[in-house]
Amino acid sequence: MTAPENIQRAPQPARLSRRTLLGATAGGVLLGGVAAAALPTAAQAAPAPRCYTRTEWSARPPKSATQVIAKPDHIVIHHTASPNVTDYSLSAAYAVQHWIQNLHMDTNGWIDIGNQLTISRGGFLMEGRSKSLTSINNGQNVLGAQTADNNSHTIGIEHEGIYVTENVTTALFDTSVLTCAWLCNTYGLDPHVAIVGHRDYNTTQCPGDVFYARLPELRDRVAAVL
Ligand SMILES: [Zn+2]
Repeated sequence: MTAPENIQRAPQPARLSRRTLLGATAGGVLLGGVAAAALPTAAQAAPAPRCYTRTEWSARPPKSATQVIAKPDHIVIHHTASPNVTDYSLSAAYAVQHWIQNLHMDTNGWIDIGNQLTISRGGFLMEGRSKSLTSINNGQNVLGAQTADNNSHTIGIEHEGIYVTENVTTALFDTSVLTCAWLCNTYGLDPHVAIVGHRDYNTTQCPGDVFYARLPELRDRVAAVL
C-alpha cells in the first residue's frame, strides 16, 4: 500500500554503474559487423505493455499540478491490500483503480492517486498519477506518494490484492514482468538491483510475504526478457 508524500530524505545515488549496464557488450565486440544487425533493438527487447490511460479509466483530475522529475533508480513493488477478487475483467480493473484514487485523494488527502502504475488481478496495466505514462515514455518520472522518504527516486507499481498468505494470479505476475522489463529498459536499470519491495524501504508488510518471496523470480524473469 502507499505511503505519505514525504520526500525529506535526499535521493539515494544510483547503485548501478554504466559499466555494469553495458557489461554484456563490453568492448563492443558483440556489436560489431553482421551480428549487430541481428540484435534486437532495445524497444523490441522489452516493448511497452498495453497501458490503460487515465482517460480510459475515467480518472478524476488531480487537485494540483503533478511534478515531473528525473528518472527513478528503483521500482517499488506494492500490493493494494484489497480483497483477492475473482473478477478478472477490465471493468473490475477500472473499479479497483477508482477505489485506490478515491482512498488516496479523499481519505489520505493527497493531490491524486499516489502510485504511478497499477496492475489488476486480471493482469490489466493502468496509468496511475497524472502524467505518469508520458513521463515514462520521455525517460522521466512523476513525483508520487507511494514510498515514504523515497518518492523522489522511485516509481511505484500497485498490484491489486493482498499477498500475505495467498499467491498472486498468473496474469498479474506476467504483466508485472512485462511492466518491469519495459521500465528497466526505458530507464537503463538492472532488474536485480532496481526491483525492490515496499518493505525494503518502509516498515510495512507490503507487498505481502508471498509476493515478496517471489521478487527474485520476478527479477530473473525481467532479466530474461531484457
Ligand atoms: Zn506498498
